Amino acid sequence: MPELPEVETVRRTLTQLIVGKTIQSVHVFLPRIIQRPDDIKRFELELAGHTILEIGRRGKFLRIVMDGLVLVSHLRMEGRYGVYQTGDEVEKHTHVIFRFTDGTELRYKDVRQFGTMHLFAPGEEFTQKPLAKLGLEPLETSFTAKAFQEVISRRSTKIKPVLLNQEYIVGLGNIYVDEALFRAEIHPEHPADKLTKRQLERLHTAIVDTLTEAVDAGGSSIKSYVNGQGEMGMFQHSLRMYGREGEPCLNCGQPVVKTVVGGRGTHYCGKCQPPYRTSPKPRAAKQTPDEF
Ligand SMILES: [Zn+2]
Repeated sequence: MPELPEVETVRRTLTQLIVGKTIQSVHVFLPRIIQRPDDIKRFELELAGHTILEIGRRGKFLRIVMDGLVLVSHLRMEGRYGVYQTGDEVEKHTHVIFRFTDGTELRYKDVRQFGTMHLFAPGEEFTQKPLAKLGLEPLETSFTAKAFQEVISRRSTKIKPVLLNQEYIVGLGNIYVDEALFRAEIHPEHPADKLTKRQLERLHTAIVDTLTEAVDAGGSSIKSYVNGQGEMGMFQHSLRMYGREGEPCLNCGQPVVKTVVGGRGTHYCGKCQPPYRTSPKPRAAKQTPDEF
């Protein structure tokens, strides 16, 4: 599943490959990828003649901005874009082809068929699904420690599901939430509204650092994962916590623990990320109430 850094890398790569090109025609082979408009013929006809001006991103959504139109695209599990020459063999699982006037094509492939595309007039995309209700953008200057604190400290649930909720902060998936909580030394089940100001500041820094490093890693390895056709693949960054069950914690050497939080596989270090404990009451129960 691509997370924000992978989508950002695709955004940068697409910027290099297709900005300035003009669409001659569009061909949709799998109608269900197109969520808006309902009429697939209209989707194909409306795009013809428009020039790509820039590639933006909101959370894990790409915004392909044209003169007079914006295409919002989500890759979901396995969606991929590639740039080909017209006449190149069309590979299996190619669902949408954008043919440009210069003899090249942008092709969208998706084995799982979960990806989506929505077409809007410029600006309209922010007021409607799927972008309307999205939360803070963690790599923008508007993502201050104060803005983060205001959003997080109002939730009484466990911190991990709060961080995964796209209505609060966008772009954080299962992998980078585990990485950021480890760096901030916060237990994934810590109640969000019980985090201290210092913990929230640490977590804010950890989120920005984790995502920035991953984006930089993606940017520096573009050549290694764009193939001859310019197809962009997903790649795995070096991770300190996620997927390291049983291996030694890089801080303290204790084995990394794997558990389930909010239905998601979760990795943490029991020593570096101690569980939240309320101040002991006389003869208090040994477990906090929400653990069982
Ligand atoms: Zn540790």
